[in-house]
Amino acid sequence: MTNKGSLIVISGPAGSGKGTVVRLLLQDESYKVSISTTSRQPRADDIPGVTYNFVSSEEFLEMITKGELAEFAEYVGNFYGTPIKSVEELLKSGKNVILEIETQGALQIKSRFPEAILIWLSPPDYETLEARLRGRGTNTDEDINRRLTAAKREMQFIPYYDYIVVNEKGLANEAAEKIREIVNVDKMSTSLNKGFLKSFYNNK
Ligand code: 5GP
Repeated sequence: MTNKGSLIVISGPAGSGKGTVVRLLLQDESYKVSISTTSRQPRADDIPGVTYNFVSSEEFLEMITKGELAEFAEYVGNFYGTPIKSVEELLKSGKNVILEIETQGALQIKSRFPEAILIWLSPPDYETLEARLRGRGTNTDEDINRRLTAAKREMQFIPYYDYIVVNEKGLANEAAEKIREIVNVDKMSTSLNKGFLKSFYNNK
């Protein structure tokens, strides 16, 4: 059976608790997160090279031209993108690679890597979304409002995702566990095990 790493896209509205759930997944050695490149300004809680690689808009556009990104999108006035090289290297080494990205990028990944697993992480309800976003304290009021509008727009894309996982209040551990289950079940799919099926059954 396959021992290849899975490509896992995790999206969800700002305030869905993606950061916490991803951190929990990373406690398992077989999971790695792809560090995105962005043209946005670092926030107080950002660590350059760890949360993101920060570049200027010009540098970002150059990366697009050179074909260095697996996907990219403009979100709330800034560019965000996934460097293709590190993702491919991690997948080859058998790691499950997490992309924590928004919807436009997620759809680009699905068309480029059809085997990618698209997971929508949802807060339990809209009030929680708004409260989590406002409670973060690292965004300005204008930014919060733009992010709420973006969240509403993004929700229209949920049907394109393979799975939805609800991150209940205080239960991020359970959400992470559900994602691990999805990934483990996906590794048994016939589409990921064509090599095994061919070597076993076609020789009979
Ligand atoms: P934030 O500014 O809050 O860090 O991120 C804003 C949004 O951009 C989030 O929904 C986040 O998941 C998304 N994002 C982060 N990195 C990438 C990326 O590489 N590509 C895309 N398409 N979206 C990203």
